[in-house]
Amino acid sequence: MALLELQEVHTYYGGIHALKGLSITVNQGEVVTLIGSNGAGKSTTLKTICGQTRAKQGKVLFNGKDITQLRTHDIAKAGIAHVPEGRRIFPKLTVRENLEMGAFGVSDKKVIEEGIERAFAYFPRLKERIDQKGGTMSGGEQQMLAIARGLMMKPQILMLDEPSMGLAPILVEQIFDIVTELNKEGMTILLVEQNANQALSVAHRGYVIQTGEIIMKDDADILLANPQVREAYLA
Ligand code: ATP
Repeated sequence: MALLELQEVHTYYGGIHALKGLSITVNQGEVVTLIGSNGAGKSTTLKTICGQTRAKQGKVLFNGKDITQLRTHDIAKAGIAHVPEGRRIFPKLTVRENLEMGAFGVSDKKVIEEGIERAFAYFPRLKERIDQKGGTMSGGEQQMLAIARGLMMKPQILMLDEPSMGLAPILVEQIFDIVTELNKEGMTILLVEQNANQALSVAHRGYVIQTGEIIMKDDADILLANPQVREAYLA
């Protein structure tokens, strides 16, 4: 059984048909990437999974259970973390406070402290900046904070929306290294990227999305070598 499965999902924004019968699966332990150009529907896919926008037709299954109509915070509680595009951290809150916000609804202080310690083990840089306001950190540090916040609820799957966006090449490298490291430690990851080259390099499998439809799916190395994919997305 797949950890996460979208079955023929249709999502609309008013009259705009953003996802047109989208089906994808993510298995336990995989890094799966969804690549495609601007406006293809990548962010909408993640938003539909976490209930921020609703599938009008089709199903989202998590551990075999239909979560299509669950409330967003119940989906998060069930084990799906969403790190949105543009790293929406709280700029006026400190690193610690941002991390605490990632554990909303958790009242056990010990669980929160453990989460923070875990985050610092992955991101030592954040520990050095624990009392610094989020908004004063670099783009790369803010992205690390956004990912660390996503990990606070001990999710079963981490969904990252364009984590490399707007970062200098060296930081992009670091972010993709983090993806690999988290996965090595067992985290399942659904990675949405316009940076197809690097995304396919760290993923096991990939899907290519175009105007709300999956037009190609395969092992990541096969997609990486595919001339059509190279021409459209790796140029
Ligand atoms: P990007 O990298 O630009 O975020 P994307 O692949 O993530 O691209 P989506 O943001 O999912 O694409 O957008 C898919 C389609 O839905 C686009 O045509 C977009 O214009 C439209 N869309 C997205 N959000 C909204 C919204 N809130 N209201 C209306 N249309 C929207």
